[in-house]
Amino acid sequence: MAQGSPELTLYNTLTRSKEAFAPIDPENVRMYVCGPTVYDFAHIGNARPVIVFDVLYRLLRHVYGADHVTYVRNITDVDDKINARALRDYPGLPLNEAIRKVTEKTANQFHEDVAALGCLQPTVEPRATEFVLARKDGKPDMVSMIQSLIDRGHAYEAKGESGREILFDTTSMTDYGQLSKRNLDEQQAGARIAVEAHKKHPADFVLWKESSADEPGWEASFRVEGAEVAIRGRPGWHIECSAMSAAYLGEVFDIHGGGLDLIFPHHENEIAQSRCAHGSRVMANVWMHNGFLQVEGRKMSKSEGNFVTIHELLHTEKFGGRKWPGEVLRLAMLMTHYREPIDFSVKRLEEAEAVLTKFARRLGEGDQSENAEVVADAFSCLTDDLNTPDAIRHMHGMSGGALRLAMDAMGLRPVVHDVSVGADTIAEIVSNRLALIREKNWAEADKIRDELLGQGIQLKDGKDPETGERVTTWEVVR
Ligand code: AMP
Ligand code: ZN
Repeated sequence: MAQGSPELTLYNTLTRSKEAFAPIDPENVRMYVCGPTVYDFAHIGNARPVIVFDVLYRLLRHVYGADHVTYVRNITDVDDKINARALRDYPGLPLNEAIRKVTEKTANQFHEDVAALGCLQPTVEPRATEFVLARKDGKPDMVSMIQSLIDRGHAYEAKGESGREILFDTTSMTDYGQLSKRNLDEQQAGARIAVEAHKKHPADFVLWKESSADEPGWEASFRVEGAEVAIRGRPGWHIECSAMSAAYLGEVFDIHGGGLDLIFPHHENEIAQSRCAHGSRVMANVWMHNGFLQVEGRKMSKSEGNFVTIHELLHTEKFGGRKWPGEVLRLAMLMTHYREPIDFSVKRLEEAEAVLTKFARRLGEGDQSENAEVVADAFSCLTDDLNTPDAIRHMHGMSGGALRLAMDAMGLRPVVHDVSVGADTIAEIVSNRLALIREKNWAEADKIRDELLGQGIQLKDGKDPETGERVTTWEVVR
């Protein structure tokens, strides 16, 4: 841990309590976050976990060193809708290649969107398609992991309504349901018996599912009770994260994250698969979940139809009749603690924009040295289970280099407007301001400097080394 860093505490969904964070290996702190399904544009609800875990990633890098954190965020490109479109649009191509073509644009769009929100790229971004079948490099894959589950008595084959399935046997795991605190008896009560008749228990879930002749699928073969069973099919939803996290982070790692809606069934079932395949006590030590971004009290989602895509917010006038800079959306999210719900509104964006404008002005004021001590209060908020709203409250009283450090810690940047004032105009403003300085009209000169800073343009006053004359240069601040 970096010297003088306060202890990091994180809320763990597994224990429902805030705990001191102790990485398994401080030389390599390992975090996995469930990433987007690249079928469609991501909405701003999807942006929330990306931003929240980006702040955590930055904090871990700060505490343990930038080279001592591995952050894996997957891309889900195996999905029935994606697969079907791949087969329809590229019938001649091998499935993985066809999927790549279908998802390329969406994946690129996602990268562009989250970069505009100030998010760093994760260390690795594996795609599910690359981990379905056994790999040349021997890294864990989904089919091999399903085989381990069969071999260890945690999975069975059964004939479902639309073909054969390999199912996870939830009753084979004595403590299934620990994360979501659901027990199997409760789930038995609500079961839809007709549809689930082939399952030993209604909570059993699909690991592998047979595809019909006109559905896309991967050729897989399993050994079940001594016999070879070939099932051309596709994986269930949960197994991809178990395989990809093991591939890059090992069987047990430090932090696993995602939105609240993933606790059940997705994360519960990831835990069941990983622990039973590896025979381990836990999959990840700390489970973290962000609250929902809501619109009028309802979770923003594709199915509710109450969503705004990140792209629309940044580049169209659909929300509040104007475009919003990515920096503003980021701050608007971080003004609320990550575990609380956010009610999304134009008012909230306006508030965030006003705060950022104030911060941009304050960056040019006061002591410009990056004095870590002055930032300690803001950092101690972040290390207390990522208390970003409290950190922001401290930042209201900060300026100069200290404010810059605190903003960097959260990945906040002053807004860079589409620079509507061109370089020529800026040169003219700068020369008018130099005239004001010669007249010793400091107040007016400072006002101009602050106004430009509010627009993301920082003036730097200095002297020409040869003539000794006052000169002013400028740059766009990022
Ligand atoms: P999905 O593509 O629906 O699997 O979601 C990708 C990520 O976004 C997951 O971590 C979800 O939990 C999260 N997510 C989806 N909708 C929201 C929302 N309205 N607010 C916060 N997080 C969300
Ligand atoms: Zn996952």
